[in-house]
Amino acid sequence: MSSLLTIDDALAQVLAHVRALPPEEVAVAGAAGRILAAPAAARTDLPPFDSSAMDGYAVRAADTPGTLRVAAHSAAGRPSTVPLRPGEAIGISTGAVLPEGADAVVPVELTDGGGAEVRVERVGPGENVRPRGGDVRAGETIVGAGMPLGPARVGALAAAGVATVACGSRPRVAILPTGTELRAAGEPLGPGEIYESNGVMLAAQVRRAGGLPELLGVVDDDEEATRAALERGLAADVLVTSGGVSVGPHDLVRQLLAELGAVEVFWRVAVKPGKPVAFATRGPVLVFGLPGNPVSSLVDFELFVRPALEALQGARSPAPRYLPGRLAAPVRRSPGRDQLVRARLGDDGLLAPVAGQGSHMIGRAVAADALVLVPRGDGELGAGADVRFITL
Ligand code: AMP
Ligand code: MG
Repeated sequence: MSSLLTIDDALAQVLAHVRALPPEEVAVAGAAGRILAAPAAARTDLPPFDSSAMDGYAVRAADTPGTLRVAAHSAAGRPSTVPLRPGEAIGISTGAVLPEGADAVVPVELTDGGGAEVRVERVGPGENVRPRGGDVRAGETIVGAGMPLGPARVGALAAAGVATVACGSRPRVAILPTGTELRAAGEPLGPGEIYESNGVMLAAQVRRAGGLPELLGVVDDDEEATRAALERGLAADVLVTSGGVSVGPHDLVRQLLAELGAVEVFWRVAVKPGKPVAFATRGPVLVFGLPGNPVSSLVDFELFVRPALEALQGARSPAPRYLPGRLAAPVRRSPGRDQLVRARLGDDGLLAPVAGQGSHMIGRAVAADALVLVPRGDGELGAGADVRFITL
């Protein structure tokens, strides 16, 4: 068993077979969740002009403290038409243009709020002024190539006048659940049947990873039907199958994939759960054969499929993002395989393994919000041990 591929080696082999899809132009308003294909630069200084940070009065700092004649008003979007002269103040609102001649703003709280004349306290030069370009300079890169776009980033791009960005195309991911025993939720269960769940779960994972899932119908463990379904799935950018990759007589997927011209890169990884995962390619199409046990499927997707989908979209560092953490309770190690233990991240910051770690126990996995990496070895990792984890 120790000759099995490690998680890291398997991921490296997957990534070595990925070529990023061609980019496409996307409206910034719809770009959250996408990965930037080319650096996006500010179209304008941010702020685009010297502006006020407060509601108050624009002044020359040298004229303060004192009583000043209120000469005009500058509101957001409606700049004062006159410059500020010595001995004067111009009423100003937050975000309004600082009038020519002014070098500071006295917040309204530090004045008597006067209309024609205003009594102001002392301010220093530059106080309560947001200088032009103080946040971002025109032409400066705001978000680099390969970076994922979240809410703050699309906000920054919009603020800097960027309307569209080049993003990695979303991979089309065909999902094929295999198994004669599988029925869709809502149908009655016959003898020996169970409800199909991996397809539903994988589609959700694909969507969260930026892919476009195409859920093919469940296929029975029948050669003809499975071959036809696999061939359909191979028309996508990525084919993810569920089930049928173990060593039983009904495990047809790997054999049929080979017959259809897919070249297997690896089968089986030293991971628990999720060992019998297969990875193959046919031309540019990536094929992941995930084991049928639901928790195995969940884990293998996070370890191998998600990084591949990120890489197809041009991500700079496509890999599971491990965070440092600490165990709340001991975990027995597995001698030959690294484990991904379902755990709950408590308010105390500790990772508590959930009861029920069987690879079939998707119901118990509901309590988990983390996959804790427990490296292979003897004995156990004690409570308080430093670990790394992926959030679910
Ligand atoms: P297999 O990998 O095909 O040997 O399946 C392993 C276990 O996972 C069996 O108990 C299957 O019934 C179950 N299983 C396989 N595919 C699915 C699926 N799509 N949804 C839920 N359970 C599944
Ligand atoms: Mg099966």
